[in-house]
Amino acid sequence: MNPSASKFTETTRVVRKMDFHSNRFDSADTHSCRRCGTCCRKGGPAFHLADRPLIEKGTIPLRKLFTIRKGERVKDPIRGVVRPVSTELIKLKGSANTWTCTFFNERDFSCRIYAGRPLECRLLKCWDTTDVEEMTARDCLTRRHLLEGVAGLWDLVAEHEARCSCEKLGEMMAHLKKERPKKTEKAFAEILNYDRHLRRLVVEKSRIDPEILDFLFGRPLEKILAMF
Ligand code: SF4
Repeated sequence: MNPSASKFTETTRVVRKMDFHSNRFDSADTHSCRRCGTCCRKGGPAFHLADRPLIEKGTIPLRKLFTIRKGERVKDPIRGVVRPVSTELIKLKGSANTWTCTFFNERDFSCRIYAGRPLECRLLKCWDTTDVEEMTARDCLTRRHLLEGVAGLWDLVAEHEARCSCEKLGEMMAHLKKERPKKTEKAFAEILNYDRHLRRLVVEKSRIDPEILDFLFGRPLEKILAMF
């Protein structure tokens, strides 16, 4: 069995152990969810291959997603440290400029998509994060899985990634912090302009919902630079 097939089998094993039909947060276990909402306020889950139908069937719309691109520095919600991600992640957005998951209902501390919540939410137990940690960075769903068959759009996304990769940005930032050479300053400004311009153009020409841009191209470069 090839390594990716074996990983997928492992994911299937973990998924099968879970109760997909229960709509209860509580259990008889002494370690049970008390619906405090802390997990959901730390940020929505990252998506895995097992979650693909939730997006493809429209249970979770694209405008609710954003992409963390490979190499982007983000805070690990489990360990609480900031570090670059080793693989691209698609995540649920937060609501009202917070990290609180967009589907968290503050009125009754419930999940608005409980029956169709993503894999990580099904696995996460705040008193034992072993299962969800095992899943992190494994079988991650990426833009390629969802967009590669969409003629034209995938090419734009791939070109943006090639021109604005986080690896390239990180190198430029390190260079600029040391000596600010004119050539790098100019190249850096061009990348920022390209990112801004492409987002505007895609909305104008294709009239897509601007809320989808953070899924297609990741968060605007201006927003992620502070993490480098
Ligand atoms: S999808 Fe539901 S369970 Fe998962 S983080 Fe959001 S509100 Fe919480």
